[in-house]
Parts: sequence; structure tokens; C-alpha cells
Amino acid sequence: MKVLIVEDERKTAEYLRQGLTEQGCTVDLAFDGIDGQHLAVHHDYDVIVLDGMLPGLDGFELLRSLRAVKNTPVIMVTARDGVEDRVRGLREGADDYLVKPFSFVELFARLQALNRRGRAQEATLLRVGGLHVDLIARRAVRESQRLELTAKEFALLALLARRQGEILSKTTIAELVWDMHFDSNTNVVEVAIKRLRAKIDAPFATPLLHTIRGMGYVLEDREVS
Ligand code: CA
Repeated sequence: MKVLIVEDERKTAEYLRQGLTEQGCTVDLAFDGIDGQHLAVHHDYDVIVLDGMLPGLDGFELLRSLRAVKNTPVIMVTARDGVEDRVRGLREGADDYLVKPFSFVELFARLQALNRRGRAQEATLLRVGGLHVDLIARRAVRESQRLELTAKEFALLALLARRQGEILSKTTIAELVWDMHFDSNTNVVEVAIKRLRAKIDAPFATPLLHTIRGMGYVLEDREVS
């Protein structure tokens, strides 16, 4: 899940980023409304966490300008006694709101719910040969054997499974899983692929994760065709 947090309290923003990163999310931060608007409009996020009171451009104005161009799910964060703010946020097109102070667990549950709603049409249980990837439970099973994956390994597998049969370049993978835009250092991807392969393929008879020399990687069951 790719999340944008627009929050001017840096401590809160950093805390949320850390928590979400540990859950396997890719997180961008903006500390004011102008930056937030730029990121929200020019990048694709699964969910945006938007503080109401922001320097530059406040959260409500940001939301209004965003809604003119995009339907990215937005969870608005408002002050404890800001009933009017909540109403205003919902009217401007927020999908949900949270009242400060909130717990990380609640925020994460709501983000997941919004993300799920946003992906209502997308399958959440993917199958590649004998490998099953559950995007909601964040679990991978192959031939009845639960695979123990780290958050990043799961994110990598989820990407490959969502786009199974399609060759993904190291650059694409690095961008989508690590949010890294780099020229030559694709070592991170190579190392992660190697680790993932050791878990999802090595113990089994048929490999599903294939290297296409000079192009990238593809997850597919070649036994089918
Ligand atoms: Ca604020």
C-alpha cells in the first residue's frame, strides 16, 4: 500500500511513517499543504492521510483541489472538538476521518479498509500455480505450506502476483516496492529476488519466479500452457 501523509507536526508524521513502513507500506511525507498537493496530484497513492490544519494550504483546500482531478481515498485528521471540520472534510470529499489523538492501530485499520474499498474490483486472493497470495491477510501459502516472508518480500511477491505473466524490470520493481528511483543500483532488487526465490521456489519442484535475462522477472506457472 502506497501512502501519502500530509502532516505539519513532524514527530507525528515520522511516527506514522515508521509504523506504516513496518507494516510493509511505502510512505511519502509532506509537511505543508503545498508540498502535499503537489505529491497528491502528481503521484498515485492508495490512500492519503490528510491533516486539516496545515501551513501553506489547509487540508480542506487541498482536498477540494485534489477532488477536481482525482479520487484517491483520503482520510482526514481533525482536532478533537472540530465537528464542523469533520462535516466540512466529508463534504469536500474525504472518505473517512480520524480525531486526534488517535491510535496507530485504528489509523492502520481504517487505511486498510479504504484501500480495500478502493480495490473492490481487484482480486485480493491471487493464485499462481500452487502458490496462493492473500493480499488482505498478507499471507502466502504454497502447496499447503505457509511461507514466512518479511514485509518487503511480501510486497515484492504481491506485486509479481498481481501482474503475473508480465515481465517486470528491476527499475519498475525498485520504484513500486522500494519507492527508489535510481539508475544503476539494482542490487537491492536482485538480493530480494534471491531471498524470495529461496522461500517460494527452492523447496518445491516447479519454479514460478523466472529471470528473463536483460529484461527483469516474471512470476508465472509455466506448467499450464
Ligand atoms: Ca496540523
